[in-house]
Amino acid sequence: MPRAFTPFLHAAYTDAPPPRRQFLPREYLLTLLAGAAERFPLLAAPDLPWALAERVHDPAYLARWQRGEVTRQEERALGFAWHPAVVQRGLASCGATLSATWDALSTGLGLNLGGGTHHAYANHAEGFSFLNDVAIAAQHVLDAGLVRKVLILDLDVHQGNGTASIFADEARVFTLSVHAEHNYPFRKETSTLDVALPDGTEDAEYLAVLSETVLPAVQEFRPDLLFYLAGADVLAGDQLGRLALSLEGLRARDERVYNWAARTHTPLVSLMAGGYHRDPATLVQARLATLDAALGAFAAAPDAV
Ligand SMILES: [Zn+2]
Repeated sequence: MPRAFTPFLHAAYTDAPPPRRQFLPREYLLTLLAGAAERFPLLAAPDLPWALAERVHDPAYLARWQRGEVTRQEERALGFAWHPAVVQRGLASCGATLSATWDALSTGLGLNLGGGTHHAYANHAEGFSFLNDVAIAAQHVLDAGLVRKVLILDLDVHQGNGTASIFADEARVFTLSVHAEHNYPFRKETSTLDVALPDGTEDAEYLAVLSETVLPAVQEFRPDLLFYLAGADVLAGDQLGRLALSLEGLRARDERVYNWAARTHTPLVSLMAGGYHRDPATLVQARLATLDAALGAFAAAPDAV
């Protein structure tokens, strides 16, 4: 029986000032949690210990964020003001990713209903991200000798620039980003494989890229662990995306990724990443479809590990 970790159960999500209007309004967050709770138990994970973050992030940078010694410029790059609850929320979100990673390694599938803060660099914050949860979890399982090779499959509409930068010289980590070419971040990093898509890309073209370029690259690398950033900001109607996938296209994308992992017995950690649809009800529908695709794929292959 899979379970999902979610930082949204953490008090920090209700204590913190709302960071930005594109974030999911509270009533829809509750709808999402209710829908998810019908599918599996929801758990709040332990917060990430700062020491694990130091394997990826500069300790002086972390200490400044911990104490609130950040500049206006840094807050602008992050996208919202520093607040103790912002720090708490980051630790909760990273903790959920780490717990989902343990689940993936022990059962085949780990779920975090948040996470995917891929714009955080080793020493600076960007794009709603000051801790890079996936980089921290990947580094930790590599350090612990639990896996030899990790692939980070980032299908959020924005390039995973922080992740690409952090692992630029790490051959054990394959960073793979499929993103909108003309979208934020405007100065992109070099991932192991980048696929930049034109504005307005629709289902057929996107799914062809996935089947013909992306999944073959994943197959060739044969990771021991796959992190999947299932961003819903590829949907038509997303306020911060520039692509035009339908809900059916999103579901087909997710099914192909989850089915590949289940079929090849590759442990998968699923992160929600970005989603800023102008209609929050559509976003909730997309998120629940992603969860159903994961459950369907791994239910069909119960002995994935
Ligand atoms: Zn995004």
